[in-house]
Amino acid sequence: MLTKPRLLAHAATAALLVLATPALARAETLTLKADRYLDVARGVLVSPAVIIIKDRAITAVNPSQPPTTDRTLELPGLTLMPGLMDAHTHLTLDVARGWRHDAVTKTAGDLALIGAANAEKTLMAGFTTIRDLGAADFADVAIARAVEDGLTPGPHIIAAGHATGITGGHCDITGYVPSVLPPSPERGIADSPDEFTKAVRYQIKYGARVVKICATAGVMSDEASVGAQQPSLAELKAAADEAHRHGLKIAAHAVGEAGVIAAAEAGVDSIEHASLLTPAAAEVVRRHGAYLVPTLYLLDAVDPASLPPALMKKGLQIREASKESFKLALRAKLKIVFGTDAGVYPHGDNAKEFYVRTQLGQSALEAVRSSTLYASALLDVPDRGQIKVGLLADLIAVEGDPLTDVRILENVRFVMKEGHVYKQPPRP
Ligand SMILES: [Zn+2]
Repeated sequence: MLTKPRLLAHAATAALLVLATPALARAETLTLKADRYLDVARGVLVSPAVIIIKDRAITAVNPSQPPTTDRTLELPGLTLMPGLMDAHTHLTLDVARGWRHDAVTKTAGDLALIGAANAEKTLMAGFTTIRDLGAADFADVAIARAVEDGLTPGPHIIAAGHATGITGGHCDITGYVPSVLPPSPERGIADSPDEFTKAVRYQIKYGARVVKICATAGVMSDEASVGAQQPSLAELKAAADEAHRHGLKIAAHAVGEAGVIAAAEAGVDSIEHASLLTPAAAEVVRRHGAYLVPTLYLLDAVDPASLPPALMKKGLQIREASKESFKLALRAKLKIVFGTDAGVYPHGDNAKEFYVRTQLGQSALEAVRSSTLYASALLDVPDRGQIKVGLLADLIAVEGDPLTDVRILENVRFVMKEGHVYKQPPRP
Protein backbone atom coordinates (compact mmCIF):
# COMPACT_ATOMS: atom_id res chain seq x y z
CA MET A 1 0.00 0.00 0.00
CA LEU A 2 1.21 3.49 -0.81
CA THR A 3 0.97 5.98 2.01
CA LYS A 4 -1.18 9.01 1.34
CA PRO A 5 1.59 11.63 0.81
CA ARG A 6 3.48 9.24 -1.48
CA LEU A 7 0.29 8.52 -3.37
CA LEU A 8 -0.27 12.24 -3.98
CA ALA A 9 3.33 12.76 -5.10
CA HIS A 10 2.99 9.72 -7.29
CA ALA A 11 -0.18 11.11 -8.87
CA ALA A 12 1.52 14.40 -9.67
CA THR A 13 4.18 12.68 -11.77
CA ALA A 14 1.94 9.96 -13.06
CA ALA A 15 -0.16 11.77 -15.66
CA LEU A 16 1.56 9.88 -18.46
CA LEU A 17 1.80 6.64 -16.54
CA VAL A 18 -1.94 6.48 -15.99
CA LEU A 19 -2.51 5.12 -19.49
CA ALA A 20 -0.10 2.29 -18.92
CA THR A 21 -1.08 1.58 -15.34
CA PRO A 22 -4.87 1.86 -15.14
CA ALA A 23 -5.05 -0.30 -12.03
CA LEU A 24 -3.04 2.14 -9.91
CA ALA A 25 -4.92 4.19 -7.36
CA ARG A 26 -4.97 7.84 -8.29
CA ALA A 27 -5.82 10.89 -6.25
CA GLU A 28 -7.61 12.45 -9.20
CA THR A 29 -11.35 13.09 -8.98
CA LEU A 30 -13.72 13.03 -11.91
CA THR A 31 -17.31 14.08 -12.58
CA LEU A 32 -18.94 11.86 -15.18
CA LYS A 33 -22.16 13.22 -16.70
CA ALA A 34 -24.60 11.46 -18.98
CA ASP A 35 -28.28 11.81 -19.87
CA ARG A 36 -29.26 8.90 -17.64
CA TYR A 37 -28.02 5.77 -15.91
CA LEU A 38 -29.48 2.32 -15.48
CA ASP A 39 -30.14 1.31 -11.87
CA VAL A 40 -29.99 -2.46 -12.43
CA ALA A 41 -31.23 -3.36 -8.94
CA ARG A 42 -34.40 -1.26 -9.23
CA GLY A 43 -34.70 -1.83 -12.97
CA VAL A 44 -35.20 1.85 -13.80
CA LEU A 45 -33.46 4.57 -15.79
CA VAL A 46 -32.50 7.56 -13.65
CA SER A 47 -32.10 10.96 -15.29
CA PRO A 48 -29.74 12.79 -15.37
CA ALA A 49 -26.61 10.91 -14.32
CA VAL A 50 -23.88 12.64 -12.36
CA ILE A 51 -21.31 10.18 -11.05
CA ILE A 52 -18.36 11.27 -8.92
CA ILE A 53 -15.29 9.04 -9.14
CA LYS A 54 -12.15 9.02 -7.00
CA ASP A 55 -9.33 6.49 -6.79
CA ARG A 56 -10.95 3.81 -8.99
CA ALA A 57 -14.27 3.93 -7.14
CA ILE A 58 -17.65 5.66 -7.27
CA THR A 59 -17.90 8.16 -4.40
CA ALA A 60 -21.27 9.77 -5.21
CA VAL A 61 -24.25 9.21 -7.50
CA ASN A 62 -26.39 12.27 -8.31
CA PRO A 63 -25.30 14.18 -5.14
CA SER A 64 -27.55 17.10 -4.19
CA GLN A 65 -24.43 19.28 -3.87
CA PRO A 66 -21.91 18.04 -6.48
CA PRO A 67 -18.32 18.53 -5.24
CA THR A 68 -15.68 20.26 -7.36
CA THR A 69 -13.54 17.66 -9.13
CA ASP A 70 -10.28 17.75 -11.10
CA ARG A 71 -12.02 16.88 -14.37
CA THR A 72 -15.48 16.61 -15.91
CA LEU A 73 -16.38 14.21 -18.68
CA GLU A 74 -19.69 14.66 -20.47
CA LEU A 75 -21.42 11.92 -22.43
CA PRO A 76 -24.39 13.72 -24.00
CA GLY A 77 -27.18 11.47 -25.23
CA LEU A 78 -25.74 8.35 -23.58
CA THR A 79 -26.97 5.95 -20.91
CA LEU A 80 -24.47 4.83 -18.28
CA MET A 81 -24.56 1.26 -17.00
CA PRO A 82 -22.37 -0.95 -14.85
CA GLY A 83 -19.66 -2.75 -16.87
CA LEU A 84 -20.84 -6.10 -18.24
CA MET A 85 -19.51 -9.49 -17.09
CA ASP A 86 -19.11 -12.71 -19.07
CA ALA A 87 -18.83 -15.81 -16.86
CA HIS A 88 -17.57 -18.12 -19.63
CA THR A 89 -14.85 -17.16 -22.09
CA HIS A 90 -11.72 -18.72 -23.61
CA LEU A 91 -9.43 -15.81 -24.47
CA THR A 92 -6.69 -18.06 -25.85
CA LEU A 93 -9.07 -19.85 -28.23
CA ASP A 94 -10.08 -18.65 -31.70
CA VAL A 95 -12.09 -21.38 -33.39
CA ALA A 96 -12.51 -19.33 -36.58
CA ARG A 97 -8.71 -19.19 -36.96
CA GLY A 98 -8.16 -22.91 -36.49
CA TRP A 99 -7.87 -24.60 -33.11
CA ARG A 100 -7.69 -28.40 -33.52
CA HIS A 101 -3.91 -28.52 -33.16
CA ASP A 102 -3.31 -25.53 -30.87
CA ALA A 103 -2.13 -27.85 -28.08
CA VAL A 104 0.81 -29.11 -30.14
CA THR A 105 1.57 -26.05 -32.26
CA LYS A 106 1.26 -23.08 -29.90
CA THR A 107 3.53 -22.23 -26.98
CA ALA A 108 2.33 -20.56 -23.79
CA GLY A 109 3.77 -17.35 -25.24
CA ASP A 110 1.71 -17.68 -28.43
CA LEU A 111 -1.43 -18.31 -26.42
CA ALA A 112 -0.80 -15.39 -24.07
CA LEU A 113 -0.32 -12.94 -26.95
CA ILE A 114 -3.40 -14.21 -28.80
CA GLY A 115 -5.36 -14.01 -25.55
CA ALA A 116 -4.13 -10.49 -24.77
CA ALA A 117 -5.44 -9.24 -28.14
CA ASN A 118 -8.76 -10.94 -27.43
CA ALA A 119 -8.87 -9.45 -23.92
CA GLU A 120 -8.67 -5.96 -25.45
CA LYS A 121 -11.51 -6.76 -27.88
CA THR A 122 -13.60 -8.01 -24.96
CA LEU A 123 -13.00 -4.88 -22.89
CA MET A 124 -13.81 -2.59 -25.82
CA ALA A 125 -17.10 -4.47 -26.24
CA GLY A 126 -18.09 -3.33 -22.73
CA PHE A 127 -17.11 -6.40 -20.71
CA THR A 128 -15.09 -5.19 -17.74
CA THR A 129 -14.95 -8.54 -15.88
CA ILE A 130 -14.75 -12.07 -17.27
CA ARG A 131 -14.06 -15.61 -16.15
CA ASP A 132 -11.70 -17.49 -18.43
CA LEU A 133 -12.69 -21.14 -18.12
CA GLY A 134 -9.75 -23.18 -19.33
CA ALA A 135 -6.45 -22.46 -21.08
CA ALA A 136 -3.19 -24.38 -21.52
CA ASP A 137 0.06 -23.66 -19.69
CA PHE A 138 -1.43 -20.89 -17.50
CA ALA A 139 -1.53 -18.49 -20.45
CA ASP A 140 -4.84 -17.17 -19.03
CA VAL A 141 -3.21 -16.48 -15.66
CA ALA A 142 -0.40 -14.61 -17.43
CA ILE A 143 -2.93 -12.40 -19.27
CA ALA A 144 -4.84 -11.73 -16.05
CA ARG A 145 -1.63 -10.62 -14.33
CA ALA A 146 -0.50 -8.47 -17.27
CA VAL A 147 -3.87 -6.68 -17.29
CA GLU A 148 -3.74 -6.19 -13.53
CA ASP A 149 -0.23 -4.75 -13.82
CA GLY A 150 -1.33 -2.34 -16.56
CA LEU A 151 0.87 -3.95 -19.22
CA THR A 152 -2.00 -4.62 -21.59
CA PRO A 153 -5.63 -3.46 -21.75
CA GLY A 154 -8.30 -5.97 -20.80
CA PRO A 155 -11.12 -6.74 -18.40
CA HIS A 156 -10.59 -8.04 -14.88
CA ILE A 157 -9.90 -11.72 -15.58
CA ILE A 158 -10.72 -14.58 -13.22
CA ALA A 159 -8.67 -17.39 -14.74
CA ALA A 160 -9.10 -21.16 -14.32
CA GLY A 161 -5.78 -22.51 -15.60
CA HIS A 162 -6.30 -26.00 -17.06
CA ALA A 163 -9.87 -27.27 -17.04
CA THR A 164 -9.89 -30.65 -15.29
CA GLY A 165 -11.55 -33.85 -16.48
CA ILE A 166 -10.98 -37.56 -17.13
CA THR A 167 -8.53 -39.23 -19.53
CA GLY A 168 -10.08 -39.10 -22.99
CA GLY A 169 -12.85 -36.79 -21.79
CA HIS A 170 -14.01 -33.34 -22.88
CA CYS A 171 -11.11 -31.56 -21.14
CA ASP A 172 -8.51 -33.92 -22.65
CA ILE A 173 -6.86 -33.31 -26.02
CA THR A 174 -7.20 -36.52 -28.01
CA GLY A 175 -6.29 -37.73 -31.48
CA TYR A 176 -2.52 -37.93 -30.96
CA VAL A 177 -0.22 -40.89 -30.27
CA PRO A 178 0.42 -41.67 -26.56
CA SER A 179 3.85 -39.98 -26.46
CA VAL A 180 2.28 -36.62 -27.34
CA LEU A 181 0.66 -34.71 -24.46
CA PRO A 182 0.78 -37.50 -21.87
CA PRO A 183 -2.15 -36.91 -19.48
CA SER A 184 -1.40 -35.63 -15.97
CA PRO A 185 -3.26 -33.86 -13.17
CA GLU A 186 -0.95 -30.89 -13.73
CA ARG A 187 -2.46 -30.46 -17.20
CA GLY A 188 -5.97 -31.10 -15.88
CA ILE A 189 -6.34 -34.83 -16.55
CA ALA A 190 -7.39 -36.82 -13.49
CA ASP A 191 -8.73 -40.34 -12.91
CA SER A 192 -9.54 -40.69 -9.21
CA PRO A 193 -10.78 -38.41 -6.44
CA ASP A 194 -7.17 -37.99 -5.27
CA GLU A 195 -6.06 -36.98 -8.74
CA PHE A 196 -8.91 -34.47 -9.00
CA THR A 197 -7.79 -32.99 -5.68
CA LYS A 198 -4.21 -32.80 -6.94
CA ALA A 199 -5.24 -31.27 -10.27
CA VAL A 200 -7.22 -28.55 -8.50
CA ARG A 201 -4.40 -27.81 -6.03
CA TYR A 202 -1.92 -27.53 -8.90
CA GLN A 203 -4.07 -25.06 -10.86
CA ILE A 204 -4.52 -22.94 -7.74
CA LYS A 205 -0.79 -23.02 -6.97
CA TYR A 206 -0.06 -21.47 -10.37
CA GLY A 207 -2.70 -18.77 -10.22
CA ALA A 208 -6.18 -20.17 -10.91
CA ARG A 209 -8.87 -18.07 -9.17
CA VAL A 210 -11.78 -20.23 -10.29
CA VAL A 211 -11.83 -24.00 -10.84
CA LYS A 212 -13.22 -25.48 -14.05
CA ILE A 213 -14.12 -29.13 -14.43
CA CYS A 214 -15.65 -31.13 -17.27
CA ALA A 215 -18.55 -33.13 -15.86
CA THR A 216 -19.74 -34.48 -19.21
CA ALA A 217 -18.79 -34.97 -22.82
CA GLY A 218 -19.28 -32.06 -25.20
CA VAL A 219 -19.46 -30.90 -28.78
CA MET A 220 -15.90 -29.68 -29.29
CA SER A 221 -14.11 -32.91 -28.33
CA ASP A 222 -13.84 -36.38 -29.83
CA GLU A 223 -16.18 -38.52 -27.71
CA ALA A 224 -19.11 -40.15 -29.50
CA SER A 225 -21.58 -38.86 -26.89
CA VAL A 226 -22.48 -35.18 -26.73
CA GLY A 227 -23.43 -35.13 -23.07
CA ALA A 228 -22.65 -38.34 -21.13
CA GLN A 229 -21.36 -37.98 -17.56
CA GLN A 230 -17.57 -38.45 -17.36
CA PRO A 231 -16.06 -38.13 -13.84
CA SER A 232 -17.79 -40.08 -11.06
CA LEU A 233 -19.73 -38.26 -8.36
CA ALA A 234 -16.80 -38.92 -5.97
CA GLU A 235 -14.34 -37.30 -8.40
CA LEU A 236 -16.59 -34.27 -8.95
CA LYS A 237 -17.05 -33.93 -5.20
CA ALA A 238 -13.29 -34.09 -4.58
CA ALA A 239 -12.77 -31.20 -7.01
CA ALA A 240 -15.63 -29.13 -5.58
CA ASP A 241 -14.50 -29.67 -1.99
CA GLU A 242 -10.93 -28.69 -2.81
CA ALA A 243 -12.00 -25.52 -4.65
CA HIS A 244 -14.21 -24.53 -1.72
CA ARG A 245 -11.48 -25.23 0.84
CA HIS A 246 -9.49 -22.56 -1.02
CA GLY A 247 -12.45 -20.19 -0.99
CA LEU A 248 -12.83 -20.46 -4.76
CA LYS A 249 -15.86 -21.09 -6.95
CA ILE A 250 -16.04 -24.11 -9.20
CA ALA A 251 -17.69 -24.20 -12.64
CA ALA A 252 -18.69 -27.46 -14.33
CA HIS A 253 -19.10 -27.98 -18.05
CA ALA A 254 -22.22 -30.19 -18.08
CA VAL A 255 -24.43 -30.99 -21.06
CA GLY A 256 -26.52 -34.11 -20.31
CA GLU A 257 -28.92 -34.93 -17.48
CA ALA A 258 -26.79 -37.34 -15.40
CA GLY A 259 -23.76 -35.04 -15.45
CA VAL A 260 -25.80 -31.95 -14.57
CA ILE A 261 -27.32 -33.80 -11.62
CA ALA A 262 -23.96 -35.20 -10.45
CA ALA A 263 -22.27 -31.79 -10.71
CA ALA A 264 -25.06 -30.10 -8.74
CA GLU A 265 -24.98 -32.84 -6.11
CA ALA A 266 -21.18 -32.51 -5.88
CA GLY A 267 -21.73 -28.87 -4.92
CA VAL A 268 -20.42 -26.96 -7.93
CA ASP A 269 -21.30 -23.27 -8.05
CA SER A 270 -22.24 -23.09 -11.72
CA ILE A 271 -23.40 -25.49 -14.39
CA GLU A 272 -22.08 -24.36 -17.77
CA HIS A 273 -24.14 -24.92 -20.96
CA ALA A 274 -26.75 -27.38 -19.57
CA SER A 275 -27.75 -27.95 -23.20
CA LEU A 276 -29.83 -31.06 -22.53
CA LEU A 277 -31.53 -29.94 -19.33
CA THR A 278 -34.49 -31.99 -18.11
CA PRO A 279 -37.13 -31.11 -15.49
CA ALA A 280 -35.53 -33.64 -13.09
CA ALA A 281 -32.07 -32.09 -13.53
CA ALA A 282 -33.47 -28.56 -13.21
CA GLU A 283 -35.05 -29.55 -9.90
CA VAL A 284 -31.73 -30.85 -8.53
CA VAL A 285 -29.92 -27.69 -9.68
CA ARG A 286 -32.59 -25.54 -8.00
CA ARG A 287 -32.41 -27.52 -4.77
CA HIS A 288 -28.62 -27.21 -4.58
CA GLY A 289 -28.70 -23.49 -5.45
CA ALA A 290 -26.22 -23.77 -8.32
CA TYR A 291 -26.20 -21.10 -11.03
CA LEU A 292 -26.80 -21.93 -14.65
CA VAL A 293 -24.57 -20.39 -17.32
CA PRO A 294 -26.19 -21.22 -20.66
CA THR A 295 -24.27 -20.38 -23.86
CA LEU A 296 -26.73 -19.80 -26.70
CA TYR A 297 -25.46 -17.27 -29.24
CA LEU A 298 -22.71 -19.65 -30.38
CA LEU A 299 -25.36 -22.09 -31.62
CA ASP A 300 -26.26 -19.62 -34.36
CA ALA A 301 -22.79 -18.11 -34.75
CA VAL A 302 -20.91 -21.32 -35.54
CA ASP A 303 -21.64 -22.91 -38.91
CA PRO A 304 -21.87 -26.66 -38.13
CA ALA A 305 -20.46 -27.38 -41.59
CA SER A 306 -17.20 -25.73 -40.46
CA LEU A 307 -16.69 -28.49 -37.85
CA PRO A 308 -15.30 -32.01 -38.43
CA PRO A 309 -18.23 -34.37 -39.31
CA ALA A 310 -18.44 -36.09 -35.90
CA LEU A 311 -18.49 -32.75 -34.09
CA MET A 312 -20.97 -31.30 -36.57
CA LYS A 313 -23.38 -34.12 -35.77
CA LYS A 314 -23.12 -33.36 -32.04
CA GLY A 315 -23.52 -29.64 -32.65
CA LEU A 316 -26.76 -30.21 -34.53
CA GLN A 317 -27.93 -32.57 -31.76
CA ILE A 318 -27.85 -29.82 -29.12
CA ARG A 319 -28.80 -26.83 -31.27
CA GLU A 320 -32.55 -26.74 -30.69
CA ALA A 321 -32.34 -28.65 -27.41
CA SER A 322 -30.19 -25.86 -25.90
CA LYS A 323 -32.90 -23.32 -26.61
CA GLU A 324 -35.58 -25.56 -25.08
CA SER A 325 -33.30 -26.10 -22.07
CA PHE A 326 -33.02 -22.34 -21.59
CA LYS A 327 -36.80 -21.97 -21.68
CA LEU A 328 -37.07 -24.76 -19.12
CA ALA A 329 -34.51 -23.01 -16.89
CA LEU A 330 -36.60 -19.82 -17.07
CA ARG A 331 -39.78 -21.71 -16.17
CA ALA A 332 -38.00 -23.47 -13.30
CA LYS A 333 -36.79 -20.04 -12.09
CA LEU A 334 -33.17 -21.17 -11.90
CA LYS A 335 -30.49 -18.61 -11.10
CA ILE A 336 -29.09 -17.69 -14.52
CA VAL A 337 -25.83 -15.84 -15.17
CA PHE A 338 -24.57 -14.47 -18.47
CA GLY A 339 -21.86 -16.48 -20.25
CA THR A 340 -21.00 -17.05 -23.87
CA ASP A 341 -18.07 -19.44 -24.54
CA ALA A 342 -16.36 -16.61 -26.45
CA GLY A 343 -13.56 -18.11 -28.51
CA VAL A 344 -15.91 -20.67 -30.02
CA TYR A 345 -17.31 -17.60 -31.86
CA PRO A 346 -15.27 -14.37 -32.37
CA HIS A 347 -14.21 -12.42 -29.26
CA GLY A 348 -15.85 -9.02 -28.92
CA ASP A 349 -19.26 -10.31 -30.07
CA ASN A 350 -20.12 -11.36 -26.49
CA ALA A 351 -23.10 -8.98 -26.23
CA LYS A 352 -24.90 -10.79 -29.06
CA GLU A 353 -25.87 -13.36 -26.42
CA PHE A 354 -28.34 -10.84 -24.90
CA TYR A 355 -30.64 -10.75 -27.92
CA VAL A 356 -30.77 -14.54 -28.25
CA ARG A 357 -31.81 -14.82 -24.61
CA THR A 358 -34.56 -12.23 -24.91
CA GLN A 359 -35.84 -13.96 -28.07
CA LEU A 360 -36.24 -17.11 -25.95
CA GLY A 361 -38.31 -15.36 -23.30
CA GLN A 362 -35.93 -13.76 -20.79
CA SER A 363 -36.75 -10.10 -20.12
CA ALA A 364 -34.13 -7.54 -21.15
CA LEU A 365 -33.81 -6.45 -17.50
CA GLU A 366 -33.16 -10.00 -16.29
CA ALA A 367 -30.65 -10.53 -19.11
CA VAL A 368 -28.80 -7.35 -18.09
CA ARG A 369 -28.95 -8.32 -14.40
CA SER A 370 -27.50 -11.74 -15.27
CA SER A 371 -24.43 -9.93 -16.64
CA THR A 372 -24.13 -7.43 -13.78
CA LEU A 373 -25.94 -7.98 -10.47
CA TYR A 374 -26.18 -11.78 -10.59
CA ALA A 375 -22.74 -12.19 -12.17
CA SER A 376 -21.17 -10.29 -9.27
CA ALA A 377 -22.61 -12.90 -6.90
CA LEU A 378 -21.45 -15.95 -8.89
CA LEU A 379 -18.03 -14.45 -9.63
CA ASP A 380 -17.67 -13.42 -6.00
CA VAL A 381 -16.92 -9.78 -6.87
CA PRO A 382 -19.28 -7.77 -4.64
CA ASP A 383 -17.30 -4.61 -5.49
CA ARG A 384 -18.97 -4.28 -8.92
CA GLY A 385 -22.13 -4.96 -10.90
CA GLN A 386 -24.06 -1.78 -10.04
CA ILE A 387 -23.67 1.97 -10.18
CA LYS A 388 -23.46 2.54 -6.47
CA VAL A 389 -21.33 4.48 -3.98
CA GLY A 390 -18.28 2.49 -2.89
CA LEU A 391 -18.19 0.16 -5.88
CA LEU A 392 -15.46 0.13 -8.55
CA ALA A 393 -15.90 2.66 -11.35
CA ASP A 394 -16.38 -0.06 -13.98
CA LEU A 395 -18.86 1.71 -16.26
CA ILE A 396 -20.03 1.62 -19.85
CA ALA A 397 -22.37 3.83 -21.86
CA VAL A 398 -24.74 3.06 -24.72
CA GLU A 399 -27.18 5.05 -26.83
CA GLY A 400 -30.83 4.71 -25.78
CA ASP A 401 -32.54 2.29 -23.43
CA PRO A 402 -31.15 -1.26 -23.26
CA LEU A 403 -34.36 -2.38 -21.56
CA THR A 404 -36.38 -1.60 -24.69
CA ASP A 405 -33.75 -2.73 -27.20
CA VAL A 406 -31.13 -5.06 -25.79
CA ARG A 407 -29.26 -5.00 -29.14
CA ILE A 408 -27.85 -1.56 -28.33
CA LEU A 409 -25.52 -3.42 -25.95
CA GLU A 410 -23.76 -4.66 -29.10
CA ASN A 411 -22.59 -1.11 -29.74
CA VAL A 412 -20.98 0.14 -26.54
CA ARG A 413 -19.79 3.75 -26.93
CA PHE A 414 -17.87 4.33 -23.70
CA VAL A 415 -15.84 2.01 -21.48
CA MET A 416 -14.32 2.82 -18.11
CA LYS A 417 -12.56 0.33 -15.85
CA GLU A 418 -11.43 1.29 -12.36
CA GLY A 419 -11.96 4.96 -13.21
CA HIS A 420 -9.76 4.79 -16.30
CA VAL A 421 -11.30 5.56 -19.72
CA TYR A 422 -10.56 2.99 -22.44
CA LYS A 423 -13.16 3.97 -25.02
CA GLN A 424 -14.92 7.25 -25.63
CA PRO A 425 -17.18 8.62 -28.38
CA PRO A 426 -15.39 11.12 -30.65
CA ARG A 427 -15.87 14.76 -29.63
CA PRO A 428 -18.45 16.58 -31.81
ZN1 LIG B 1 -16.15 -23.34 -22.65
